[in-house]
Amino acid sequence: MVVTRFAPSPTGRLHVGNIRTALHNWMWARKHGGRFLLRLDDTDRERSTEENAAAIRTDLGWLGLAADTEARQSDRFALYESRFEELRAAGRVYPCYESAEELELKRKILAGRGLPPIYDRAALKLGDAERAAFEAEGRRPHWRFLLDHDSPIHWDDLIRGPQHLDPRLLSDPVIRRADGSWLYMLPSAIDDIDMGVTHVVRGEDHVTNTGLQLQMFGALGAPAPAFAHEALLVGSEGKLSKRLGSLGCDAFREEGIEPLALIALLARIGTSLPVEPVADPAALLDSFDFARFGRAPARFDLEELKALNARIIHLLDFGAVADRLPAGMDAAAWAAIRPNLTRIDEAAGWWAVVEGKVTATIDAGDRDYLAAAARLADGLDWNEGAWKALTSALGTETGRKGKGLFLPLRLALTGREHGPDMNALLPLIGRARAVERLKAASL
Ligand code: GLU
Repeated sequence: MVVTRFAPSPTGRLHVGNIRTALHNWMWARKHGGRFLLRLDDTDRERSTEENAAAIRTDLGWLGLAADTEARQSDRFALYESRFEELRAAGRVYPCYESAEELELKRKILAGRGLPPIYDRAALKLGDAERAAFEAEGRRPHWRFLLDHDSPIHWDDLIRGPQHLDPRLLSDPVIRRADGSWLYMLPSAIDDIDMGVTHVVRGEDHVTNTGLQLQMFGALGAPAPAFAHEALLVGSEGKLSKRLGSLGCDAFREEGIEPLALIALLARIGTSLPVEPVADPAALLDSFDFARFGRAPARFDLEELKALNARIIHLLDFGAVADRLPAGMDAAAWAAIRPNLTRIDEAAGWWAVVEGKVTATIDAGDRDYLAAAARLADGLDWNEGAWKALTSALGTETGRKGKGLFLPLRLALTGREHGPDMNALLPLIGRARAVERLKAASL
C-alpha cells in the first residue's frame, strides 16, 4: 500500500511551493489507492502555532487535498526519545559541547584553508573526564548523528535518477539541541518508519537531507522509503519572486482562482505533459508519474493560471457551482453566462443584466430601429430561436446587417457592447423585459 505524507511546519501559511508538494503527495497516494497523511512538523514549539495548523488544514480542505490521517510531531516525543536511546546505545549519536561561536570559528579556519566546512568530529574524541569537565562548567551537549563513512550513500531517485553522496564530504548532522529540542531530521525519519511511509516527495532542496536520512533509516534498522525530489518552482522570468512565491490560498481565492485551476496547473508544470483544463482532479491521476517530471525548474506563471482558471470555469457543470451563484440563476442561465466568465463571482453581474435594470446610451440614429425591434419582439414566437427570429425579421424590414443590425440591439437589451451569446441570453431576459428595454431605448 502506498503511503505518502505532506509534512509542513506550522510556522506559516501554505504557499504555492508547498501546495505543489502537498498535491503531488496526494496524487501519488490517490493514484495507487493508498493513504495520504498530514504530518505537522511542529518540533519548533516557539515558531509553530495553532492558528497556522488550523489554516493549513483549512487550505488543504479548500484545495480538496484533505488528509486521511493527521499527526503532529509534538505528540510523539516519547517515541523519538526511545529511538534516540537506541541510537545512543549503538554509538550512532554523540554529544557535542562546542558553542555556536566555536563552530563558527572552525568553519572560518577551514574556509581560510580553502576547505569545505565539514565538522571535524572533535567531540567524538572527548574522553569521559573532558565531558564531565564541560558538564561541570554548566555546558549541556547538543547531539550529532554519526555518519558511517564506510557506507557510500546512493538511491535511485524517482525524478532525478541514480544519486550518490560521499558521507565523508558531509558533516555529522546535529539532530538535537542543547535544550533537548529536536531538529527536523531524525524525528522525520523515525516517523516515516513508524507511519509506514513508502514515498517521500519533496523539493530538491532536501537532497542532501535525504543522504543523511538514508543513513538514519539504516541505523534505525528500517528500509528507506522511495524518494522523489522535484525541481523547484521559478517565475516566468527566472527566480520565483518573493511576491509570487508567498502566494497562498487566500490570495488565490481573492483573485477568483478555483482550487481546480491551481491543481491542474501545479500537477503539470515541470512535467512533459501539457497544462490542460479539467473538470475533475481525478482526470489528472492516470497520467501522473514521477518519470514525467523534468530536472529543469517548473515555471509558475500567474497569467497562465488565470487563463487556465477561465477555461476550467467554462467546463464546470451547474451542479458544481450552484451554491455560489445568485438566487434564481438556473442551469440554462449558467450555460449562457459561463463562457463569458473569468471568475465565478462575475456571474452575478451578468445575472443582473438578465434580471435587473439596464441602462444604455443609444445613438439618436438607432431610435426608430429600436422601436421597430420592440414591435417585432412583442409579436415573436418566444419558444424557439427568439434572437434569430428577431434579427432576421429586423434585417428584412430595415435592410440593416452586421454590426448595424446587432450592436444597437445588444446595447438596448444588455446595456453593454459585449457579452454572452444573445441566442442563449435573450430567452433568459424574456419577452416582457426585452420589449420594455427596446421601447425605453427607442425614446
Ligand atoms: N518539515 C519539513 C519541511 O517543511 C518536511 C520536509 C519533508 O518532507 O521531509 O521542509
